[in-house]
Amino acid sequence: MQFDDWLSGRLLQTRKAGLYRTLRTMQGAPHTEMVIDGEEQIVCSSNNYLGLAADERLIDAAQSALTTFGSGSSGSRLTTGNTEWHEKLEKKLAHFKHTEAALLFSSGYLANIGVLSSLPEKGDVILSDRFNHASIIDGCRLSKAKTVIYEHINMHDLESRLQETQQHARRFIVTDGVFSMDGTITPLPELMRLAKRYHAYVIVDDAHATGVLGKYGRGTSEHFGVQPDVVIGTLSKAAGTEGGFAAGSQMLIDFLRNHARTFIFQTAMAPASCAASFAALEIIEQSEKKRIRLSAYITKIKTGLTKMGYFVKGDFTPIIPVMIGQAEKAVLFSRKLQEQGIYAPAIRPPTVPEGESRIRLTVTADHTEKEIQHILASFNLIGKELRII
Ligand SMILES: *Cc1c(COP(=O)(O)O)cnc(C)c1O
Repeated sequence: MQFDDWLSGRLLQTRKAGLYRTLRTMQGAPHTEMVIDGEEQIVCSSNNYLGLAADERLIDAAQSALTTFGSGSSGSRLTTGNTEWHEKLEKKLAHFKHTEAALLFSSGYLANIGVLSSLPEKGDVILSDRFNHASIIDGCRLSKAKTVIYEHINMHDLESRLQETQQHARRFIVTDGVFSMDGTITPLPELMRLAKRYHAYVIVDDAHATGVLGKYGRGTSEHFGVQPDVVIGTLSKAAGTEGGFAAGSQMLIDFLRNHARTFIFQTAMAPASCAASFAALEIIEQSEKKRIRLSAYITKIKTGLTKMGYFVKGDFTPIIPVMIGQAEKAVLFSRKLQEQGIYAPAIRPPTVPEGESRIRLTVTADHTEKEIQHILASFNLIGKELRII
């Protein structure tokens, strides 16, 4: 069979399963209103929670580092790619997360893969929440340790799994801080208590919590006042730039620098990205007002939709999953939102369980009151039209 004929057959299966993916083209910098595929839309699906991705201060910082350090780093951190900006950012990250040290990766995805494929070893067990992010799942797959799944944020189930795996050398509990499709927050204090009781280590992926949770935006550990063994994060969400990191003890960071393959064999990030991230972290710590505005929007949307009769999932986070049910209905709903100038995708199986298709709304501090009103009015209109409320 010809190469392309084989691929075309495979893609046909993808299409038939309703899983065929295409790209949309965004025009200009990430703001709350953007031209998407030629049409003006209010963006309700971005992770730019504090509106930093188009912030002048980040752009200035990047531009200045670009002029001094060039467009690329030219090598891995261990060869020729390490600059003062990488080191400054790592110090800043450690300070920001209140840990001894931090290590940069080129993305959050690579941070999870690097940590999970190096830290747990053969004979160990990774206990992983059922709804963990794909990068955690892939990290578990690459690890020589055994992976055991526990039910989503179900501490009772986690305890049973901890009891069942006592004969293994080490246990690592790994969880998202804020879950990306459900907007739930992991019950970290209970999880840490179990970890202590059963002598397990805790790895928290704070991708969606960094910049958002806690008075200073330090994430789930600040929100709950606890300190896990390993904190993973990304600079691509609320920080508005790119890159991932792991934070923890100096010993942990020394270990990862020597053993995490996605650190060792990756070209270092461009120094300009690091400079922008450094500026972002300074701003995040001082963005309490923005977080208060964000909270007010979350309250407004969640209570508004609930009053209309919608079932809205999740804890108090900017990820607001509005439950629709059938996949086709969710897709139709998303299309009708687009006609109203609102861009929010339908999330369907296999990303979420059968019958739990949803519109995944995200809100940012940069949305305006007027935009929030329009979002609520549109949900009211479409919900009645499609007999969901
Ligand atoms: C987005 C996300 C990642 C990946 O981070 P990138 O920097 O985009 O690679 C990892 N974990 C979780 C929970 C995420 O939501």
